[in-house]
Amino acid sequence: MIPVAPIADEDSTTVTSLYQSERKIYPRSVSGWFSRWRWTLVWVTQLVFYGLPWISINGRQAVLFDLSARRFYIFELVLYPQDLIYLTGLLIISALSLFLFTAVAGRLWCGYACPQTVYTEIFLWVERQIEGDRNQRMKLDQGALGLNKLLRKGAKHLVWAAIGLWTGFTFVAYFTPIQELAHEAYLGSLGPWELFWILFYGFATYGNAGWMREQVCKYMCPYARFQSAMFDKDTLIVSYDRTRGEGRGVRPRSEGPADYRARGLGDCIDCGLCVQVCPTGIDIRDGLQYECISCSACIDVCNSVMDKMHYPRGLIGYGAPHGTGAPVRSMWQRLLRPRIWVYSAVLLGVSVAVFGSLALRAPFKVDVVRDRGSIARLVGAGTVENVYRMQIMNATESAQTYRLRVEGIEGLHAVSGDLVDVAAASALWVAVRVQMPPAMAEPGSHPIRFRIEENRPDGVEVVEKSVFLVPR
Ligand code: SF4
Ligand code: SF4
Repeated sequence: MIPVAPIADEDSTTVTSLYQSERKIYPRSVSGWFSRWRWTLVWVTQLVFYGLPWISINGRQAVLFDLSARRFYIFELVLYPQDLIYLTGLLIISALSLFLFTAVAGRLWCGYACPQTVYTEIFLWVERQIEGDRNQRMKLDQGALGLNKLLRKGAKHLVWAAIGLWTGFTFVAYFTPIQELAHEAYLGSLGPWELFWILFYGFATYGNAGWMREQVCKYMCPYARFQSAMFDKDTLIVSYDRTRGEGRGVRPRSEGPADYRARGLGDCIDCGLCVQVCPTGIDIRDGLQYECISCSACIDVCNSVMDKMHYPRGLIGYGAPHGTGAPVRSMWQRLLRPRIWVYSAVLLGVSVAVFGSLALRAPFKVDVVRDRGSIARLVGAGTVENVYRMQIMNATESAQTYRLRVEGIEGLHAVSGDLVDVAAASALWVAVRVQMPPAMAEPGSHPIRFRIEENRPDGVEVVEKSVFLVPR
């Protein structure tokens, strides 16, 4: 509950403020098994994010979402707007993975791979290098503004801004070739949209990871609001073993378990380190809270405390049942419950469908539309001609020749040539004149098929349906 503080008292009128400003959190640095995992993911995700745009294959950027050319390049894959279904499939796979991981072990995504966590971790690391760890940072903030404070704060913000701008630059490089972008940036000739998105994304990174931090997780992220709907009593969450830990209290390190237990104490020495390392500033000993992003920093630090006290590890850990009184079941029993089977089966099914169809998709696409500017007409002695506009999209990295046939009415044939050359990873519109010999079909609309195949033995064939109009 937000405390209500009186802020004025004039003429017997009390004005109260319902607003409480956020207290600044100074997370203490922590090391341990989970922390190493988090840093591994920081490295992996950032090497991928910053590194991918610099990789080239087939003379082009390996991963490029070229919006102006309406083409997406993902290594050997060339996708057209017609392939948007695969993007939908990938989003469904991402959502199902999130459901699955959350049901298994809570907010794994938040604690280890979410960009907000990753960039906050990087920005915090910079802050520690320049301003020191928790106590030094608190002291610096409380102290008067002097040269030391000015230099340290200035340096920190400079490095943060540089990381933000580099992140914005890299983000835009997924849409504009990075070499081109770097050259434009060097010459100071960036386009207005490129400049806008570099600054916008850079500022968002700087603001979210430098200033907002845990507030993004607590107040802005929608996932935090509904993730608990995916929890059940077997979800592995970060929790404090109350039975073992309470009553908490300080004690000399030399005091044995029999002695402190006789004094009514549990294993928690009430050092407060689990609160000090928490990036959202909560006390996990108060139970599951929506602010907890499952970063496991409190597990690492508490384990180090337990080691120093020569107590068993795991006072804070994954897997204790959260307040439901359910028995602690083995890890495998927790994992292999019906909900996890269902999520896994659906995820597997969708993944096989998406990646299977991606692997089997035709290396080119065809669109055929009737040319609305040219209606069916009689040419020569009873010969009927219809004109179509055909788009052939070559989704391979080499130039291709396609052979065109048309069928559906006896004698139907294309008179505008049956071979079409399309450059690598390009789309080409061609006008196709199709003629029917005299008296081969009644007046009206007749279904026909265009067969387009790669002009080589065992070439892939694509069939497109259309209609042929015979005038009265
Ligand atoms: S770190 Fe462990 S011992 Fe220290 S207060 Fe937290 S739970 Fe208790
Ligand atoms: S309570 Fe522990 S796991 Fe949760 S956010 Fe804080 S430090 Fe991370």
